[in-house]
Amino acid sequence: PGQSELVIVYHRLPYEEKRVKGQIRRQRHTSPNGIIPTLLSFFSDGRKGSWVAWAEHEEDQGEFETRTAVDAERYPQLTAARVPLSKSDVDTFYKRFSKEAFWPTLHCFWERASFNEDDWQVFMRVNRAFAERTAAEAAEGATVWMHDYNLWMVPAYLREMRPDLKLAFFHHTYFPSADVFNVVPWRRQIIGSLLQCDYIGFHIPRQVENFVDVARGVFPLQTLEVQNCAPRFVTYGCAVGLDTMTTCIDTGMRQVRLGAHPVGLDLDRVRNALAKPEVKEQMSRLRKELSGVRLILAVERLDYTKGVLEKLNAYEQLLANNPELIGKVTLASVCVPAAKEMTVYDELLAQIEQAVGRINGRFARIGWTPVQFFFRSLPFEEVVGWYAMADVMWITPLRDGLNLVAKEFVATQGMLDGDGVLVLSEFAGAAAELKGAVLTNPHDTADLVSSCYMALNMHKTEAKTRLRELFGITAYNDIRRWGDEFLAALETPALEPSDRQ
Ligand code: UDP
Repeated sequence: PGQSELVIVYHRLPYEEKRVKGQIRRQRHTSPNGIIPTLLSFFSDGRKGSWVAWAEHEEDQGEFETRTAVDAERYPQLTAARVPLSKSDVDTFYKRFSKEAFWPTLHCFWERASFNEDDWQVFMRVNRAFAERTAAEAAEGATVWMHDYNLWMVPAYLREMRPDLKLAFFHHTYFPSADVFNVVPWRRQIIGSLLQCDYIGFHIPRQVENFVDVARGVFPLQTLEVQNCAPRFVTYGCAVGLDTMTTCIDTGMRQVRLGAHPVGLDLDRVRNALAKPEVKEQMSRLRKELSGVRLILAVERLDYTKGVLEKLNAYEQLLANNPELIGKVTLASVCVPAAKEMTVYDELLAQIEQAVGRINGRFARIGWTPVQFFFRSLPFEEVVGWYAMADVMWITPLRDGLNLVAKEFVATQGMLDGDGVLVLSEFAGAAAELKGAVLTNPHDTADLVSSCYMALNMHKTEAKTRLRELFGITAYNDIRRWGDEFLAALETPALEPSDRQ
């Protein structure tokens, strides 16, 4: 065994590596995602730990450095335990197979999924390499916290190598119902692997329950504990709401606990962004440029799960049905390109560009553009500047594990005591948490149109009241609470026979 008391197993290193003239340079992640800093913060008190992740390496590149410091000053006892993967392995395991087979299935687009046995073999080999690295790092009885579907098979290998470890897994994406998940050819292996964990966390109860449903169809399980979901979660009236959730099952080998932990924000990042002079300038520039035109904002990655096209079609209907809005509103759509290897998105981009062109061609006037399409990734601070100026934030995923954009908008407007209205798809995990949003069904164009129209016409008093409630939820369930609650949940003692429900 190694020395680490806590091992994080994440697909990415906690810093970015760039190869400059054969030398590896490290820099902080530019991604605004608060998860990495939060996970790092568990090591700021000097706790001994490892962060297992892949690093790209070709055999002809010379010696590979397996263990390096992450940040000797801030986390003196934390080691980056690097798993060497060739570019071709990374492409297969991460950029292609995971996106082609698992991503669509997890988001209920199973008809888009393609399953390839050779790729699965690569996936398992890579997962085994992660497990081996983890087994070498973890001290006797250590806690291992694994992250997301790219690493589904790690628990199986790890349990075999190190039965002494406490294994925990957090699932960052949506988890679909049995009817959908069961199309995966390797579902028995995947579920069998996850059931090697002592604790499995998802964002919301619906995902927990879907997982239990799938697991029960594959293995004979006994339910040991069920809990009510209220008041933390929406329990009805929302596509992903649920009133009860299974929190402990018995597999015959062990008790597996389950929990719903919606990821939260690091509010300081939003606060710091708002305090920046550049962001203040951006806001006043935008205000001037909009000159009274009301801003409907969309911010998402280019992905069919995000409902970009459905939103554009609805926007066209909105303008067609309500000519009084012509020249009075504009839709700014910030769409982040996918990595260029992910060719599955090419066709969608063409359709989106076509829709933008069609809408602008149909409605534009001199000095007014109905849709402004920004096909690039903006720095987080700039996105915050946009959130601050939005009258309506229109978030329309057909399916989403959580949706951080919704929370970021709420936090930004909340800090400014704003009255922007959040229109949020019922199919986003965040809808189960964000009471006060205007919920919408993105599969129903008429509903998309009417909810956006309602948001544009909402009385300022109501908008402010809703926003305050949303801000309260977002500020309370921040990223720190997410991490602390998850780690605390791992310490819950096993159920005695008399405790069982
Ligand atoms: N984002 C960004 N620049 C952009 C657009 C988005 O940094 O131009 C960030 C946004 O602030 C959010 C993240 O990308 O933190 C998207 O997270 P979300 O959970 O909404 O969706 P995901 O892409 O993870 O499915």
